[in-house]
Amino acid sequence: MTSLEIRDLGVQFSGVSILHNLSLTVESGQFAAVLGPSGCGKTTLLRSIAGLITPAAGTIRFGKQLVSVSSLVLPPHKRNIGYVPQEGGLFPHLSVFENVAFSLGKLDKTEKAPIVEEMLNLVGLSGFEHRMPQQLSGGQQTRVALARALAMKPAMVLLDEPFAALDQALQAEISEEVAALLKRTKTTTIMVTHDREDALVSADVIALMRKGQVVQYGSPAEVYRQPISADVALSTGDVVTLPAFKDEGEEVTSPLHMHSFDLQPNGDLLIRPEEIRISLEKMDKGVRAEISKINYYGHDALLELKLPGSPIPIRARVAAPLDFTVGQEIYAHVEGPLRWVPRKATHQ
Ligand code: ATP
Repeated sequence: MTSLEIRDLGVQFSGVSILHNLSLTVESGQFAAVLGPSGCGKTTLLRSIAGLITPAAGTIRFGKQLVSVSSLVLPPHKRNIGYVPQEGGLFPHLSVFENVAFSLGKLDKTEKAPIVEEMLNLVGLSGFEHRMPQQLSGGQQTRVALARALAMKPAMVLLDEPFAALDQALQAEISEEVAALLKRTKTTTIMVTHDREDALVSADVIALMRKGQVVQYGSPAEVYRQPISADVALSTGDVVTLPAFKDEGEEVTSPLHMHSFDLQPNGDLLIRPEEIRISLEKMDKGVRAEISKINYYGHDALLELKLPGSPIPIRARVAAPLDFTVGQEIYAHVEGPLRWVPRKATHQ
């Protein structure tokens, strides 16, 4: 196990900049998730850490060891890394045993056998040694790929959307299992994912990427509760963006009339839909609104609300939607932290 420190990483393909000035630190034994839209450079980052790409600029350190700087790039096999590529990448012509044993290189079969058994036991697949990959479910294949990556006791594990091929229920189950296993073995892990819930549930820290850079980094609670922009807020969940403006009394306010202090004009307020509370009676700070749409999800529902004088409908997440009807007038107020971001400060 080791820490990871990346400073000002730059990667170019055919003269096109893919990663630029990317910095990221992951402590030893931490589980970090990298979240970002398709094409923002997540896999390129992972491949740079693995040594499969030669960066144009910047440094990568594992603990105190410099593994990548312009004059030196340590080859992948000397980095002591377990890499699980997208969809596992098992060798289809090798059995489960042989797939896991493959990463143990030159050891002879008698030395490999107990290690393979230990790894298969760890991922809950003892007894599957002789199966071929095509005789396994998607979740089992993922676990074999993980056993293969862990067999040589790597200092760090890199996971590239390892659960993308699984159906949603299995994805949640396997990903929780795998995260627990990696935390139990105190393996420093970097996982690339599109799945925000997976990142929020599994990770100790989340790096949010946009256009080749890490634009925000922190614990799941920090990145969810204190997003730096509306765009970045959307990476971790739904968000309502309301403009702040100066009212007649020169106070800065918003269509939900929340906290007039501390606001500045020409900014946006970011509100999570679950922070918008609904009441049937007017409360101190409630604003009259009309329910224009109800999306029922079973465990909760999203109400779309029209606020007087505001063209922007807002979404409120409520736990007990059964009493509400479209067209009904209610009162809405916000219970949550004040989040103000400069308008148009997006990281597309
Ligand atoms: P996804 O979530 O879709 O997997 P990603 O965030 O992992 O995307 P990357 O695979 O890192 O994105 O790709 C980032 C950009 O670099 C993309 O525009 C891609 O087309 C480009 N790219 C990746 N590999 C190469 C390559 N070998 N040569 C040229 N361009 C590449």
